[in-house]
Amino acid sequence: ARELIQRHPSLAFAVLEKEQEPAHHQSGHNSGVIHSGIYYTPGSLKAKLCVQGAALCYKYCDQKGIPYKQCGKLIVAVEQDEIPRLKALYERGLQNNVPGLKLIGAKEIQEKEPFCRGLMALDSPYTGIVDYKQVAQSYARDFQEAGGTILTDFEVTNMEMAKESSAESEDGLKYPVIVRNKKGEEISCGHILTCAGLHSDRLSQISGCSPEPRIVPFRGDYLVLKPEKSYLVKGNIYPVPNPRFPFLGFHFTPRMDGSIWLGPNAVLAFKREGYKLLDFSPGDFLDAVTYSGLWKLVLRNVSYGLGELYRAFSLSAQVRQLQKFIPEVTTNDVLRGPSGVRAQALDSEGNLVDDFVFDGGSGAVGSRVLHVRNAPSPAATSSLAIAAAIADEAQRRFQL
Ligand SMILES: Cc1cc2nc3c(=O)[nH]c(=O)nc-3n(C[C@H](O)[C@H](O)[C@H](O)COP(=O)(O)OP(=O)(O)OC[C@H]3O[C@@H](n4cnc5c(N)ncnc54)[C@H](O)[C@@H]3O)c2cc1C
Repeated sequence: ARELIQRHPSLAFAVLEKEQEPAHHQSGHNSGVIHSGIYYTPGSLKAKLCVQGAALCYKYCDQKGIPYKQCGKLIVAVEQDEIPRLKALYERGLQNNVPGLKLIGAKEIQEKEPFCRGLMALDSPYTGIVDYKQVAQSYARDFQEAGGTILTDFEVTNMEMAKESSAESEDGLKYPVIVRNKKGEEISCGHILTCAGLHSDRLSQISGCSPEPRIVPFRGDYLVLKPEKSYLVKGNIYPVPNPRFPFLGFHFTPRMDGSIWLGPNAVLAFKREGYKLLDFSPGDFLDAVTYSGLWKLVLRNVSYGLGELYRAFSLSAQVRQLQKFIPEVTTNDVLRGPSGVRAQALDSEGNLVDDFVFDGGSGAVGSRVLHVRNAPSPAATSSLAIAAAIADEAQRRFQL
């Protein structure tokens, strides 16, 4: 919205948000890492928009005085068989033009992270941390200062074309789409852009576009190091990713408030916005378990899924994972922390949709909508670059 209003100051824009504030869900419940763009398939939107987005994010924070720390990140191989994958990751990072990458050995690992053990690490000094809620609030302020309207407590439940009488009037021709909320309030507009995270498939369906890929919620729980143990971690420490689940893997992440978060794990959530272990929504649960794509994913990964579930309940199992990197960490040093829920897009064959997806549809309303169908990590890092890509696409589709 910020990008569009800056490009088209003569058009009227409104953001409709179902919560009382912006960034209440994924954008305000994440690890807070400014990713440098190492992991992603060269040439993919993720690779391109992450590298651009990280540079834009640092620049934006400098302009707005938003605090961040460029504290770097080590991806650490602790087993011999991880080394070839680590080297491949280094090559990939170079292809993606990630600045400053280098492979380092055990001695240099200890120089950077005195309590971390490892055989080899990929050192990414460009990686940083920031509070994305603060960043999102700043985007919202920019948007409002440029004349945009933010309507909170506005849960969109319906989109349809205006009835003929109003469509014939001048305003009806200009704003032929009616968007309604739960309370029956409505807004008329010419075009719609959705960015609904955990509900992106539902909003797509409401507009007459495809419900697939569907969103399956995966909760990620964090542990927090007790403050007196924060000295154990200086920057981000990550494992070598499992190629089957590149977005998983417990990591050590310093936060802007000085605390250290550990995690997150990934367990199927029984509620799309369920931040607690036992949160349950019958509708969301039914939606998930009646989707063939989820069953295909689960059946292919039963042992991994059960392992994650076990670790979600067992503190000592989680700590054992962390001890591979920092053996000094014990169960007495950690507390259960906050959680986030990932909007994981899944196709009907059970494949995780990896890249960012921006797409519209056909039909009266569908052709006037552009949906952000999939914006998983690192979409917070990439947000300004994503905004430019979406604004380009909106201009092309809607001839703005
Ligand atoms: C645990 C976790 C850790 C992560 N760590 C990182 C990280 O370190 N770095 C990084 O770059 N990325 C990270 N990410 C990813 C990043 O946070 C997300 O990709 C990004 O925030 C997605 O933004 P979004 O606007 O698409 O979704 P959201 O932030 O979820 O926003 C969607 C909004 O749509 C609103 N909405 C939904 N339905 C409706 C409706 N019907 N009517 C009106 N409003 C509606 C919601 O209330 C919400 O405000 C992480 C994500 C998670 C979950």
